[in-house]
Amino acid sequence: MRFIDISVSISPQLPVWPGDDTVVVEQVSTIAEGDESNVSRMACTVHTGTHLDAPRHFIEGGLTVDEIPIRRLIGRAYVIDLTEVDLISASVLENAGIPPRTRRILFKTRNSALWTAQKQFTADYVSVDSSAARWLVQKGVQLVGVDYLSVSAYEDPVPTHQILLGADILVLEGLDLSAVNQGRYTLYCLPLKILNADGAPVRAVLAGV
Ligand SMILES: [Zn+2]
Repeated sequence: MRFIDISVSISPQLPVWPGDDTVVVEQVSTIAEGDESNVSRMACTVHTGTHLDAPRHFIEGGLTVDEIPIRRLIGRAYVIDLTEVDLISASVLENAGIPPRTRRILFKTRNSALWTAQKQFTADYVSVDSSAARWLVQKGVQLVGVDYLSVSAYEDPVPTHQILLGADILVLEGLDLSAVNQGRYTLYCLPLKILNADGAPVRAVLAGV
């Protein structure tokens, strides 16, 4: 089976959300310096790089990342190529030819190129507006994946997150879909099991079907 790693590497160079501390990954014990082992430590928010938003992120009392059933995190997914689109709205989705009964959908946009082209955070990324969020709820989608640090616009993060997470739809953010073509895949995206957390970093992988 062919696997495609759609995760970004976690490093101090990774762009972070404005206001968040930059990612720390540092060596605290080093064989080359006489220590008996190599040990690193990391510090970052749970919304770092490729990560899952649990409903708790915007919904008080919503599911936390450790409570999400595994079966929702592994299974059939559809990647839709929206690289010509500047904003993902309901009308874009209506005309995109998304197969009926799609439960997990990943949006490939021009954002995926930002991971290599742009070292700093950019606010000018393709996002999902509230009309698209409502469309996804109506269609019974259960997981939405995007290829930058937030599913919603930088200027107005609340409505899209509230609509999706309020409907118990999982939001997978920070994907790199640059090597992925439109089509059907099996998605594996298991977040770290962090107790009571509103999100967690994920190693996300697609497998051909
Ligand atoms: Zn997030």
